[in-house]
Amino acid sequence: MGRTVVVLGGGISGLAASYHLIRASCPPKVVLVEGSKRLGGWIRSVRGPDGAIFELGPRGIRPAGALGARTLLMVSELGLDSQVLPVRGDHPAAQNRFLYVGGALHALPSGIRGLLRPSPPFSKPLFWAGLRELTTPRGKDPDETVHSFAQRRLGPEVASLAMDSLCRGVFAGNSRELSIRSCFPSLFQAEQTHRSILLGLLLGAGRSPQPDSALIRQARAERWSQWSLRGGLETLPQALNTYLTSRGVSILKGQPVCGLSLQAGGRWKVSLGHSSLEADHIISAVPASVLSKLLPTEAAPLARALSTITAVSVAVVNLQYQGARLPVQGFGHLVPSSEDPGILGIVYDSVAFPEHDGSPPGLRLTVMLGGSWLQMLEAKGCVLSQELFQQKAEKAAATQLGLKEPPSHCLVHLHKNSIPQYTLGHWQKLESATQFLAAQKLPLTLAGASYEGVAVNDCIESGRQAAVQVLGIEPNS
Ligand SMILES: Cc1cc2nc3c(=O)[nH]c(=O)nc-3n(C[C@H](O)[C@H](O)[C@H](O)COP(=O)(O)OP(=O)(O)OC[C@H]3O[C@@H](n4cnc5c(N)ncnc54)[C@H](O)[C@@H]3O)c2cc1C
Repeated sequence: MGRTVVVLGGGISGLAASYHLIRASCPPKVVLVEGSKRLGGWIRSVRGPDGAIFELGPRGIRPAGALGARTLLMVSELGLDSQVLPVRGDHPAAQNRFLYVGGALHALPSGIRGLLRPSPPFSKPLFWAGLRELTTPRGKDPDETVHSFAQRRLGPEVASLAMDSLCRGVFAGNSRELSIRSCFPSLFQAEQTHRSILLGLLLGAGRSPQPDSALIRQARAERWSQWSLRGGLETLPQALNTYLTSRGVSILKGQPVCGLSLQAGGRWKVSLGHSSLEADHIISAVPASVLSKLLPTEAAPLARALSTITAVSVAVVNLQYQGARLPVQGFGHLVPSSEDPGILGIVYDSVAFPEHDGSPPGLRLTVMLGGSWLQMLEAKGCVLSQELFQQKAEKAAATQLGLKEPPSHCLVHLHKNSIPQYTLGHWQKLESATQFLAAQKLPLTLAGASYEGVAVNDCIESGRQAAVQVLGIEPNS
């Protein structure tokens, strides 16, 4: 009888793991168990009354690098090429990004000329930060906070404005707590290997082998900065669902896993409330903190390590305005914590993906709220009403973008514990988890945003890697 692999969690990581398992030349029996009634996890696209598409989670996927190319390959294999909406390199959403500092929007400099010119809110041209970076010696610590790393190499302004904002934009987190080694591994590696981030970027880490397809070549030729799908990004998990079902994967929805136990013979028993499943191997693609509560007592050291990988909440407010215009054209702007502890940034969705505007087209924006402001409210046990987030978001759109009229449509969602935080020393937690799994020979593989990257591409890759590990060979892709 063939092996049974149970995949826990039907977010993009669990779907990608199942996809790569079932494409093997001799695939195991695959059962995907999802606790909620729908697949996709944080990837969720909803349609407004006028047909506009609002993304409640991720809104763009980067095509760059080997991981970006692998995701595009999967998109082609799923037959979604004609659905892809690219943001080409010459588009304002690819070229312009802004910081909101001192009550004004500032374009981030791009290109060599931009680095030589004064570029407020920075007091000096960023060329000087580059010069400092080239002459700064290599750090000696095995890990460092993003803030400390950036301050040491690029100076206090870049650390407290640019890197602070970047950490808020990507992780909704605090640069003084997040780890450079785990959050921005390419910067950490560049310093380790080349002594300098800039030298590392110039000399490159050596191109890893990349897959090839017509879509990947098009993305490269047109220098795409990101892409979405015509029906919204949720089309991707929906297409994976159809594909997996057609290949015989059993998908159980609305069935939260409530416990895992090891049986004689080393097989798993996966408890689902009133029923259970047996598995030869488990791929866990649920958050680390969830898995930590499911593990049996034999795996207590692993559960302890996983329970320390926490996540923060983000409130996503989608706004739509009729007849309104933005003061600038670009991807959006980020807000450093010194400017506003609660507003992380605003994405100008209509600029990147006007195809998602409804009929008649209305201006769509997404205000992301979180940071220390939200953490404090959560810690105090305050009532987190939709009105609170809506008011704060509308005020930010009015003050930061001049959109003073009330929006015609608004969606508010609080995504609790949605973004894992790779805090200082995260790599040690991963190492202790890996060592425990190897030493105990537990038939369990970890995947998902909790470990090595929160971007959709990272999550898909974590699912692929988990499948490779379970199969012991590269799957057919
Ligand atoms: C607001 C927001 C905006 C983002 N923007 C971007 C972006 O623009 N670009 C980008 O690349 N990335 C973005 N990300 C990050 C990215 O979307 C996520 O990191 C990624 O979708 C996480 O996927 P996952 O499968 O690892 O986890 P999840 O999506 O969390 O999936 C885990 C699944 O496990 C299920 N589950 C939980 N407990 C159980 C249980 N006991 N039993 C069974 N199932 C269970 C959950 O219901 C869920 O479906 C964003 C994230 C958020 C929250």
